[in-house]
Amino acid sequence: MALLSILEFPDPRLRTVAKTVPVVDDRVRKIIDDMFETMYAAPGVGLAATQVNIHEQIIVIDTSEDKTEPLVFINPQVEVIDETLSDYEEGCLSVPGFYEEITRPCHVRVTALNRAGEQFVMEPKGLLAVCIQHELDHLKGKLFVDYISNMKRDRIRKKLEKQHRSRA
Ligand SMILES: [Zn+2]
Repeated sequence: MALLSILEFPDPRLRTVAKTVPVVDDRVRKIIDDMFETMYAAPGVGLAATQVNIHEQIIVIDTSEDKTEPLVFINPQVEVIDETLSDYEEGCLSVPGFYEEITRPCHVRVTALNRAGEQFVMEPKGLLAVCIQHELDHLKGKLFVDYISNMKRDRIRKKLEKQHRSRA
């Protein structure tokens, strides 16, 4: 396994729309293993392939306290079951150090492939529902900062750009 480097906002590569995974084989399972290692090391609760500059529809998530419930979603499709909105303070490994209240539907149905290439359906609520919607946005080239005001987003962008310059 290998740690992958995580792209940070406003890197334009985060705006890439991910392609469908054609076949779930050892190549894809290697990406999944590396993504889990990268997510747990960060540490984070979710990671989309887009964030590690792999533009295929792969998401890994583990929202459990003790990091024992790894979930993989390949080619995920999400439908809203309950339009009721809830607010969560979201963060993102690609926007490190910033947290904002984001409003999303509270209950969704996800259809995806697992690491064996088998289709499964889940109907998560709460944190897992939020997390899946957040990661699905990444696969579409979208970030949680797109939901906040331009002023706030610009402020975050400037702070991160300053950090990136001082690191370079
Ligand atoms: Zn994110």
